[in-house]
Amino acid sequence: MNHRPLRSVRRDTAAAPFIVIWEATRACPLACRHCRAEARPDRDPAELTTDEATDLMRQITAFGRPSPLFIITGGDPFSRPDLYELIARARALGLPPAVSPSATPALTPENLTRLYRAGTSVISLSLDGATAAAHDEFRGFGGVFGRTLQAWQAARDTGLKVQINTTVTRTNLLDLPDIARLVREYGALTWSAFLLIPTGRGRALNSLTAAETEDVLNFVYDIGRTVPVKTTEAHHFRRVALQRHILAARGADHERILGLGPLYRDLRRRAEEHGLIGADRTRRPPIDVNAGRGLVFVSHTGEVSPSGFLPLPAGNVRDRPLTAIYRDSEVFTSLRDPARLGGRCGACEFAAVCGGSRSRAFAVTGDALAEEPWCGYAPGSFPYAEDLAALL
Ligand code: SF4
Repeated sequence: MNHRPLRSVRRDTAAAPFIVIWEATRACPLACRHCRAEARPDRDPAELTTDEATDLMRQITAFGRPSPLFIITGGDPFSRPDLYELIARARALGLPPAVSPSATPALTPENLTRLYRAGTSVISLSLDGATAAAHDEFRGFGGVFGRTLQAWQAARDTGLKVQINTTVTRTNLLDLPDIARLVREYGALTWSAFLLIPTGRGRALNSLTAAETEDVLNFVYDIGRTVPVKTTEAHHFRRVALQRHILAARGADHERILGLGPLYRDLRRRAEEHGLIGADRTRRPPIDVNAGRGLVFVSHTGEVSPSGFLPLPAGNVRDRPLTAIYRDSEVFTSLRDPARLGGRCGACEFAAVCGGSRSRAFAVTGDALAEEPWCGYAPGSFPYAEDLAALL
């Protein structure tokens, strides 16, 4: 075995998060079909003010060093006129933020340069189709695809690193190899395959089956030595990475043992045609973080929840320090206890490193501790238990 299959957070995730995501605003001129925030054109007067947002940043620094990654998302963060000031303040506090702008007319080379100069080093952009027709249909507006490609290039020219986010739904499944090819051509820090959470406007989109999800995650693994992939809300990708690592070391047939289906073969064939298989860059191992266990979300009004896709309010940073909410609230402590997981996740030998998407469990069943609905794994069925135990 020539690489670590998983990365672990080098700190106690019961004491401090690895990532803090702040929804700076819900305002956004776009109206994307999957929008978690159900964004609106206008800003909410109850948003955290500039000073309250600065206080939030101080609360984040109270977690100590190393500081959590700080991500400013929306809505569209450009809808806040104080965005550059907020970035500069975050940077002064030792929290250089990543920013997730929307592909609106505000996403100009000049504004990207201002973002960079204010102290941003990474931005993320969404790309949900490999063609203008596919992406713009998904986003609900014309011209978004072209603007995204221009911003991607401009951001890289400016010196910003770019993460590309792709929401995986039934409608763009077969586009994934083409999107991955674009990522390789344009260059990106990471490509994140985000498995839809059926919440917000995303509720109306077609969900994948558990078997299709296994096929997609194994495709994502396959291209991981050519494209710097990661997944979002697909915690079982960590199980897949462990399985594939062990099966490769054993020289075993992963397709047969994991019971992969025709979708996998189709994606794999197209990945091969695009030259996405078999380069020799080092894989980026998935990191062991989950809602409430390394991840915390703060809404535009200061409400704290374990993830932006898991609307379980645990307190408000206007009333209680973020450190106390994260460390002590029942919402957070319950999510960090694998013994509380239900269904197959509760019985699974991979639970300590996976645990499934708590957001998807909640969206589908109403119970954040229920089993992950999009996982096809039968606990105890992986044949190389000793190899697995050695890695865990
Ligand atoms: S059953 Fe749950 S814990 Fe096990 S691999 Fe699937 S999602 Fe992860």
